[in-house]
Amino acid sequence: MKKSNYCFKCSICELTTSPSSRALNCPDCNAPFDVNYISLEESKVEHNSIEIPLPINSDSLISLGEGNTPTIKLHNLSDKLEIELSTKLEYFNPTGSFKDRGSSIMISCLKQSGIKEISEDSSGNAGASISAYASKAQIKSHIFAPSSAPSAKINQIKVYGANTYLIGGPRDQATIEAKKFSENHGVTYASHNLSPYFIEGTKIFGYEIFRDLYDSRKFPEHIILPVGNGSLFLGALKSFHELFLDNKIHKIPKIHAVQTESIQPIFSTIFKTDWNPVNQTKTIAGGIAVATPPRLNQMVKAIQQNNGTCEIVSEKEIIEWQLALANQEGLYIEPTSAAAFASIKKLIKSKVIQKGESVLIPSTGIGLKDTSPI
Ligand SMILES: [Zn+2]
Repeated sequence: MKKSNYCFKCSICELTTSPSSRALNCPDCNAPFDVNYISLEESKVEHNSIEIPLPINSDSLISLGEGNTPTIKLHNLSDKLEIELSTKLEYFNPTGSFKDRGSSIMISCLKQSGIKEISEDSSGNAGASISAYASKAQIKSHIFAPSSAPSAKINQIKVYGANTYLIGGPRDQATIEAKKFSENHGVTYASHNLSPYFIEGTKIFGYEIFRDLYDSRKFPEHIILPVGNGSLFLGALKSFHELFLDNKIHKIPKIHAVQTESIQPIFSTIFKTDWNPVNQTKTIAGGIAVATPPRLNQMVKAIQQNNGTCEIVSEKEIIEWQLALANQEGLYIEPTSAAAFASIKKLIKSKVIQKGESVLIPSTGIGLKDTSPI
C-alpha cells in the first residue's frame, strides 16, 4: 500500500488517525477530521499552477477545469460604500459554483481509494458539482436534496447522471436520509461537509487570492463569506495559515462569516441569541440553510481565533443585494452569494470594516440556477 504523507486530525480534540474515505467523524468526540501534513516535501501535484500536497498525481486528478477564477473590482459599490470592494467570480467554475474546487480533490481521492459508489446530501450546488465530477471519475452517485431546492439545480444534478432523491422537510433531513442510504446499502457517504479532502480543494481559493493579488498590493484586509457548513471559510483560512507559516504573507486577512436571521447556528453560538434549530424559518439563501452544521464548533473557534466576526442578514436585505449587484455592477449571483454582500453595511456600521479598507467577497454561485423572485 502506498505510504501517505498526511494523516487525519480531529478538528476539535486533535486525535490523529490514518486517512480513510470512511473515516468522517472522530471516534472520541465525533467532530469531523482535517487533513494534517506530516511532510510537505513529498507527492506534490500541480493543480492549475497551485501545488496540492496530497498523494494524487496529474494522471489521477479528476479535473473539469476548475479554479483560476478572475477577481474584479466593484467600482460603483466601492464609491458608494467608501471601501475598496472586489469579488472573485467563483461562478466561473465548471458547474457554476465554488464547490467544484472541493469536488475535484475529494472525488480524486475517493477514486484513488477504489470507491465506485457514493451518496451525498446538498441544497443543490454541491450536489450538481459532485454529480459532475463523479461522472467524470466513473463513480456512481446518489444525491439527496431538499425538495425545496431550485429546479434548475435539481435538473443539473439529474443531467450529470446522479440518482436524485428529493427529501421533504428542512435541509438537514436530506443529510439524515443520505447517511441512512449509505448505511443500508454499504455505499460510501461522501459528504462535502465532513470530507477533509473537500477543504483541501477549497483551500486553493485562498492560494489564488495570494498568487493574484499579493504582489499588486490589492491583497484583501477582509474577506466575507456566506457560511452554511463553512467549507470555503475553513479552506480559505487554512490556506492563509499555511502561507503565513511559510513566511509568504505577513498578515492573515480577517475572514467574516454571514448567515441569515432565519438560520443562524454559528451567529447564535457566538452571540448567544435565543435562536435554535427548532425555531428555524425558511430562507431564500438555500446554500447556507444548515441549522445543525457538523463543523459548528470548529467554525466558532476559527472565527474567534482569527479576529473575524459573524453577521446575520434578513431575507429582504438578501433580495435587495441580489438586485443591487445585478443592476449596479452587472453581476447575476444567487441569493446565498448576495447574503455575504448584504452584510457590508452592518460591518461598516459596527466598525469591523473601516473606510478605505479592501474587502473581497466571492460570487460563490450563479443567479441563473437560483433566480430572484421579481
Ligand atoms: Zn475528536
